[in-house]
Amino acid sequence: MLVFKFGGASVKDADAIRNVASILSLYPGKKLTVVVSAMGKSTNKLEEIVDALESKNHKLFVGLVDELESFHMDIMAALFPEKHFKIYQTIEELFEALRSRFEAVFSENKSFEYDQIVSLGEVLSSQIVSAYLIDQDFSVKWMDARKLIRTDHTYQEGKVDWKKTEQLVQERMLPEFNEADILLTQGFMGHTSEGFTTTLGREGSDYTAGILAYCGQAESVTIWKDVPGMLNADPKYFSNTKKLEAISFKEAIELSYYGASVIHPKTIQPLQNRNIPLFVKSFLDPKAAGTAIQASSSYDHLIPSYIFKFDQVLYSFTPKDFSFIVEENLSVIFGKLSAMNVKINLMQNSALSFSILTDQKKLKKDELLALFQDDYEVKYNENLSLVTIRHYDNLTIEQVTKDKEIILQQRTRHTARFVLK
Ligand code: ASP
Repeated sequence: MLVFKFGGASVKDADAIRNVASILSLYPGKKLTVVVSAMGKSTNKLEEIVDALESKNHKLFVGLVDELESFHMDIMAALFPEKHFKIYQTIEELFEALRSRFEAVFSENKSFEYDQIVSLGEVLSSQIVSAYLIDQDFSVKWMDARKLIRTDHTYQEGKVDWKKTEQLVQERMLPEFNEADILLTQGFMGHTSEGFTTTLGREGSDYTAGILAYCGQAESVTIWKDVPGMLNADPKYFSNTKKLEAISFKEAIELSYYGASVIHPKTIQPLQNRNIPLFVKSFLDPKAAGTAIQASSSYDHLIPSYIFKFDQVLYSFTPKDFSFIVEENLSVIFGKLSAMNVKINLMQNSALSFSILTDQKKLKKDELLALFQDDYEVKYNENLSLVTIRHYDNLTIEQVTKDKEIILQQRTRHTARFVLK
């Protein structure tokens, strides 16, 4: 079995879905598990719908649902010009169920409501893509990922129950290959033991591909994207990007830890555990090699990679009683930061101060200052950027730090990080 994942951009309109069909036609007779995301930006729209439901804003709710429906209907009109197709009825029923939610009680657990509603994007998408492939004579079976992936009750960030999921995949999914060559399912979602839908976190469809590949012992996973593979920098910020031909699982985890956003960070680990290679390929050039993420680390050092994070703020905490920064006050500082859900991008300490770098937009500065003001003097420096270079040399460092003030730097054997102004 091969596992393919098609993200939102690869199913964003009728042409994109036709292109998915043409990619699948390159694999005749292969057993494929195909994971699809919600179409285009539907997940964002569904998030707005959840907010409209929570605030009981009927006009807004109706407007947003209408928009989402016409977006899908336009795609269907292009794919299935004859209205008698059963898919119209399926999609209409899903929208009816969504509309009826306005009358239902919105429970206190917003994350629960979120998962029941936002998961609809993948359900719509998978139904439409599956109907189209069947219409094009592919041998396809639609599978409900909510019956395969078991999670705990952490809504919006479901933690996978690997044992149960493996059992479900073995018992419910793999035997279906006797009926069809392609099993088509939804990314991003699972279910609790009571059968409520959970989601796996934004951009979680890659992770679904990793979970199904692990549990079904796939040969490989391919993530089809609008880039030729993993690049050594984000082309938005870097003109001269190079494609990485191959990197190790470990390197991919390192890159995603530092902020490279090509693959959902949780995806690699299950694949590494079973040594299942992951390919990142272009859906615009499906025969090209893309990037292979696999066990060997012999290619990792060949090309330096650059990861940029902008809008950073550096906070420094100095105890007012001039005590040293040691385990005791570090644990107080970490306790307060974790209570505020602060995500630390880099940290450093000296005898008397402890510094963290974090995303400016995600942190409420006044709240943070108030939390520390009794015992710490807090200084901050805004509008900074963080550059991480994997497999650096002097030239790469010169390039990224040129004409910039270096506020802080850290180097290990393979990684150099600079906080720049
Ligand atoms: N549709 C979900 C999202 O946009 C999951 C995914 O596409 O990976 O976050």
